[in-house]
Amino acid sequence: MGDRFTHVILGGGMVAGHAAGVMVKQGVEPGEVCTVSMDEDLPYERPPLSKGLMRGEKQEAEVFINDPGFYEDNGIEVLLNTRVKSVDLDAREVSSRKHAMGFENLLIATGAWPVDDRVMAAFTLGIPWKRTKAIAEIIKAAKQIPAEVLTDESRDLEELAE
Ligand SMILES: Cc1cc2nc3c(=O)[nH]c(=O)nc-3n(C[C@H](O)[C@H](O)[C@H](O)COP(=O)(O)OP(=O)(O)OC[C@H]3O[C@@H](n4cnc5c(N)ncnc54)[C@H](O)[C@@H]3O)c2cc1C
Repeated sequence: MGDRFTHVILGGGMVAGHAAGVMVKQGVEPGEVCTVSMDEDLPYERPPLSKGLMRGEKQEAEVFINDPGFYEDNGIEVLLNTRVKSVDLDAREVSSRKHAMGFENLLIATGAWPVDDRVMAAFTLGIPWKRTKAIAEIIKAAKQIPAEVLTDESRDLEELAE
C-alpha cells in the first residue's frame, strides 16, 4: 500500500489536465490530488500537434494545458512514465509495476486508441503514428512529413496536406 489521495486522476492527457485545473478552481487542498500517466510529459493538448507544433507555427511550451509550475504550486502529485496495470475498486487502490496508491475518488481519463487497419499496420511495421508530442517533434525536426505517417482522423490528413 502506498500513499492515499482524495482524488486520483488516472491519465495525463487533455481531460486529466483540464480536470486538475477545475479541481484547483474548486478549492482542493495541496496533497489531495495525484495524477498518474503513461506519458513522459505533463498534460498537453493533442490537436495543436498537427495544427501548429509540427509545422513550427507553435512552440512546445504553448501546447501544455497548465503552466509548468501549476502542479507543484498547487500540491498536485504527478507520476509520469507510469502505466497503471490494475484498479482495485474494493480496496480503492490503483497499481503500477512500482507504485500503489489509494483513492477516495477516481477519475479515469485514459482516452482511447482508435483501432483500425491503418493503426494496426503502423504498430506492426513500426511506422511512427502522430499521436504523441514526441512523435510530432521528431517529424518537425525532420522538416518533412513522411507519407507513411498515419493519422487517427481524416481531417488530420487534410491538415497535413495543406
Ligand atoms: C494529432 C491530433 C490532432 C487532433 N485534432 C483534434 C481536433 O482538431 N479536434 C478534436 O475534437 N479532437 C482532435 N484530436 C483528438 C483529441 O486530441 C482527443 O479526443 C483527446 O486527446 C482526448 O483526450 P483524453 O484526455 O480523453 O485522452 P488523451 O489526450 O489521449 O489522454 C489519455 C491519457 O491517458 C494516459 N493513459 C492511458 N492508459 C493509461 C494507463 N494504463 N496508465 C496510465 N496512463 C494511461 C495516456 O498516457 C494519456 O496521458 C486530435 C488528436 C491528435 C492525436
